[in-house]
Amino acid sequence: MSHSFDYDLFVIGAGSGGVRAARLTAMGGKKVAVAEEYRVGGTCVIRGCVPKKFMVMASEFTHQLEVAEGFGWTVGDASFDWTRFRNAKETEIARLSGLYNANLSKAGVEIINGRAVLKDKHTVEIVGTGKTVTAERILIAVGGRPFVPDFPGSEHTITSEEAFLLPELPKRIVVVGGGYIAVEFAGIFAGLGVETTLVYRGAGILRGFDEDVSAHLSREIERHGIKVVLSAEHTAIEKTETGLMNRLSNGMDIETDAVMFATGRKPYVKGLGLETAGVELTDGGAIKVDAYSQTNVDNIWAVGDVTDRVNLTPVAIREAVAFHETVFKNNPQTVDHADIATAVFSQPPVGTVGLTEAEARKKCPAEVDIYMTTFRSMKYAFYGAEHRMLMKLVVDAQSQKVVGVHIVGPDAPEMIQLAGIAVKAGLTKQQWDDTCAVHPTAAEELVLMK
Ligand code: NDP
Repeated sequence: MSHSFDYDLFVIGAGSGGVRAARLTAMGGKKVAVAEEYRVGGTCVIRGCVPKKFMVMASEFTHQLEVAEGFGWTVGDASFDWTRFRNAKETEIARLSGLYNANLSKAGVEIINGRAVLKDKHTVEIVGTGKTVTAERILIAVGGRPFVPDFPGSEHTITSEEAFLLPELPKRIVVVGGGYIAVEFAGIFAGLGVETTLVYRGAGILRGFDEDVSAHLSREIERHGIKVVLSAEHTAIEKTETGLMNRLSNGMDIETDAVMFATGRKPYVKGLGLETAGVELTDGGAIKVDAYSQTNVDNIWAVGDVTDRVNLTPVAIREAVAFHETVFKNNPQTVDHADIATAVFSQPPVGTVGLTEAEARKKCPAEVDIYMTTFRSMKYAFYGAEHRMLMKLVVDAQSQKVVGVHIVGPDAPEMIQLAGIAVKAGLTKQQWDDTCAVHPTAAEELVLMK
């Protein structure tokens, strides 16, 4: 290590990306510190993917109990205890955060509990301690924070961050937005028995996803009991004696007990001292990086949501590994952000990888072949209400490669992980079809579509 610095690497933010980079680098024999102002684990572990998945799982039982009745079960008076669930969830989150702490320490990383602010390109101040330290290299991995637009009454809203820790479940809620978090939380609340309305400003939820997926999911979540209000925005929220009155631009007034905004997340750059250190931002307010996650300042890198590339945990981790390989192992690596499989844990869930039909029609030189099916999965054979799965393959007609896979229905997130391998490998429709079906499954439709 250079003798003029306290650390070889100083990481700001102990979330998925920061922790991975810190551990790898310390295990390689470097002197590393990571500063975290809240809890080690970051968005994914503390207030994102992990607790969200537990909440999805908790809320799915309502529906499963209904389905069970069709299979001959008498369920009786089932009830849900939010406080018991929330406490169990928080205990598990604390355990996971503890594991992250332990693994960092075991790797030799110094954990600094405090907010780090850049003083210059090599100097970091730990706020409130008066302490400054220096580092040869700095990695910024501070993630993002929820964004709520400003309008009269916006102070009455919560975001997903508060939703995890609600003292009690509301009886009625409006969830605002049409992206990942909005559809996931609308499903959670509805499943837990909350009267749920989803309000979205656009014409169809999940903008940017395949249009058949958006339309199909919209119908399915309505079947799951969510009221969907499209092409509407909040003009105001007023406190009433009995709750909160949501005033919408389409003239609708909806009274609820809570209003959750899921209108996107923004890079958490405020007050980090980026200007002082000379780090440039994009027009959208993210830290500007090159393909190696290096900023315009030669000893400062950034990974994960703060760079607003593909805001997913596994991507932040890959960016962190590539950073470590490039900077500390003399093995320059970039992350391929194409064909990343992703899942929306709505109810039913969505799995998607590769191009949507609309993207393929723009990109593919020849025609595009579409294979699509909707069907009732066996799970619903004895269930009164109609629930259908959707599967869609987008194929480049010239190369015959499957360039997009889109699934809506039970187990879609599990299926898309595997479909993602085939898309990444560039397999053709014929190669998919040469793969013998696993019967009886829903997934077999993926190799049987004609
Ligand atoms: P998204 O960007 O997915 O969605 C934001 C939604 O809010 C869009 O529907 C957008 O509308 C709407 N919106 C934005 N601004 C306004 C406004 N001023 N008024 C009304 N509506 C507005 O963000 P999320 O918050 O859902 O999620 C953040 C990120 O977190 C995602 O991009 C994803 O990368 C990640 N994530 C991933 C998950 C997963 O992998 N399962 C789960 C949760 C989050 P419009 O479409 O019109 O722009």
